[in-house]
Amino acid sequence: MMTAPRKALQHLDSRGKRRDWTGAKLKAIATAAAYRAADAETHGKRAERIANCANQLRFTVANDQLTLRNAYACKVRTCPVCMALNARRAFAILAARVAEHGRQHPRALPVLLTLTVRNVEPVQLANTVTLLTTAFRRLVRYRRVTRAVLGWHRSLEITFNPIRRDYHPHIHALMWMRDGYFAANSPLYLAQPDWVQLWAAATGYPPGIVHIKRLGRDTAGVLDANLDGLFEAVKYVVKPAGFYEQTAHGWRVAPEVLATLHHAIAGRRLRDSGGSLRQIKAAEPPRRVSDDELAAAHVALETYVFGETVDTWGEIFGPDYWQRAPPDEPAADVPVPPMST
Ligand SMILES: [Zn+2]
Repeated sequence: MMTAPRKALQHLDSRGKRRDWTGAKLKAIATAAAYRAADAETHGKRAERIANCANQLRFTVANDQLTLRNAYACKVRTCPVCMALNARRAFAILAARVAEHGRQHPRALPVLLTLTVRNVEPVQLANTVTLLTTAFRRLVRYRRVTRAVLGWHRSLEITFNPIRRDYHPHIHALMWMRDGYFAANSPLYLAQPDWVQLWAAATGYPPGIVHIKRLGRDTAGVLDANLDGLFEAVKYVVKPAGFYEQTAHGWRVAPEVLATLHHAIAGRRLRDSGGSLRQIKAAEPPRRVSDDELAAAHVALETYVFGETVDTWGEIFGPDYWQRAPPDEPAADVPVPPMST
């Protein structure tokens, strides 16, 4: 839900804090510029799509609240706007699946595992991402793991160290442990050193770092969706914070850093699930109400466009917010596209 004062479009979170979509949009503009600088021939079209991402937003209005109806989203994996949209969506879907999993398997308790390898140089990133996802697949097939784990969800995350200029790809895995796993002297139980040893066997690397965090439940016995552990599992694949530098007018990302990332995540399955969690499908999205039905119900529509004086090709930035488009210029009816996960 969004509230709309006269000019600036504001999206407030449940605590009333303003969500920084403008920051994401400015980072998207920086991403488009970096793609052009990296290789205008290969990435020109991609850069244009990102530059236009979320330029136009169309909302339904009810009780002074705006609800997003459609937007052009570029769906480029490295686009900060799309990553933020995707993270929100993936979180909502996973939270629902997790709650359903809790109802079906009330005795399976979840842990969050963070599986890492040593930081890598840019040239090694793509291969290391392959190694991580392959090793994870191997890990969840080990007998000691299948005995202990009922279901899992894993996501890939890559962080960047701007001082050392190296990359830290890692996996966040939510794992639901079978009934009895946490019992005293349980033969199923895997202590931290066991995980380290299993992960080393799966990667073929010297023992690396494995963090384990047991996750809590709310009073109904359902995994608490507000726990950071759950959000950890689905948030940004790429944390924009480390990759972007603030400039006087917006943000900047180094073309070679973007090219490295692009190559490392292209065509990858960034999230996956298995076992009992895989059996629980995401709910079907609700049927889309047509414009005619909205009109019949007297639901108003409003269109906002990103500050028109923003020059997406470079330097000049005008108003850094979405402005209401004149009502006499109806926007094209572009549905909100489904995001890839
Ligand atoms: Zn986008």
